[in-house]
Amino acid sequence: ENKIRVGIVGYGNLGRGAEAAIMQQSDMELVAVFTRRSPDSIHVINEDVKVVHIDEAKEYTDKIDVMILCGGSATDLPEQVPFFAKMFNTVDSYDTHAKIPEYFSSVDKPAQESGKTSIISVGWDPGMFSINRVMSEALLTEGETYTFWGKGLSQGHSDAVRRVEGVKNGVQYTIPSEKVIEQVRNGENPAVSKNDRHVRECFIVAEEGADQQKIEQKIKKMPNYFADYETTVHFISDEELKQNHAAMPHGGFVIRSGKTGEGNNQIIEYSLKLNSNPEFTASVVTAYARAAYRLNKEGQKGAKTVYDVAPGYISPKSAEDLRRDYL
Ligand code: NDP
Repeated sequence: ENKIRVGIVGYGNLGRGAEAAIMQQSDMELVAVFTRRSPDSIHVINEDVKVVHIDEAKEYTDKIDVMILCGGSATDLPEQVPFFAKMFNTVDSYDTHAKIPEYFSSVDKPAQESGKTSIISVGWDPGMFSINRVMSEALLTEGETYTFWGKGLSQGHSDAVRRVEGVKNGVQYTIPSEKVIEQVRNGENPAVSKNDRHVRECFIVAEEGADQQKIEQKIKKMPNYFADYETTVHFISDEELKQNHAAMPHGGFVIRSGKTGEGNNQIIEYSLKLNSNPEFTASVVTAYARAAYRLNKEGQKGAKTVYDVAPGYISPKSAEDLRRDYL
């Protein structure tokens, strides 16, 4: 059987992770990596993989079945995905939760027109966590759902702070409140808002001569990302950043605590412990690339989210194998 022909758009952490993830799939082949930078400046893992300038992507419409879009959520994906949806089936990891409804519409329109399929906001949150929130709420109708992130480096938020004027480099950690986790696991259903379950901590390398106070205010006031959280900003040196903040661990929990029938406590917990956030996210996105390809073959066009994709579509196994081996 023919392999699914995949392309990667944007070669940052996620792009690199996607290349590695595709290598682990026996039913996929990587056709090319597309970048806005000079292709010669990009060092891919497998030297045989072609690196092409993004402007040439339109010449690949009959050579690629699915494009994995690996740009940043802050500014890349809102521009790139609606554009690529005119030509390709796509998958992306857009993670600005508050803007997903409008993002969905901006992708759905071109995808409907081109007859392509675009699965948006795939990853772990949004993504696997979203699925678990919906499933556990449907199963435990009465109760509370809690999502905790970290402690971990958040790529979306790090991406956002790095785009602030005067910032040379920086990272952002999200830290869950231990006390609240304990209460939730005990079935106490504490009334704490999402924002009170976590604090955000930024480590910033400022450009020479930049106004640190101004940077700090800009970060703390950034809507959707920081404005509603308790945020601390530390300024550090290049060396410190390299030494202490180079890894990209992350993870978290989705916990639903509810009651059934005659008042029995029931707790559902889904947890991720990730040594590399981008490699894991890329693995999820790659599995959903398979789904985008299959859905499109079935004529299911337009923008989709993880809620629209049945689990069997992301598995390389056939429906028959799944019924026999996993039910
Ligand atoms: P990066 O900043 O590493 O890469 C983003 C883009 O920037 C790349 O596609 C690349 O585009 C460009 N780029 C990368 N490195 C360089 C460089 N050295 N110089 C200039 N440009 C560069 O972001 P990540 O890959 O870490 O993350 C991408 C997005 O994934 C995040 O914004 C986040 O929103 C999302 N994400 C979602 C998750 C989820 O659970 N849904 C989890 C984790 C991340 P080009 O090659 O065209 O220059």
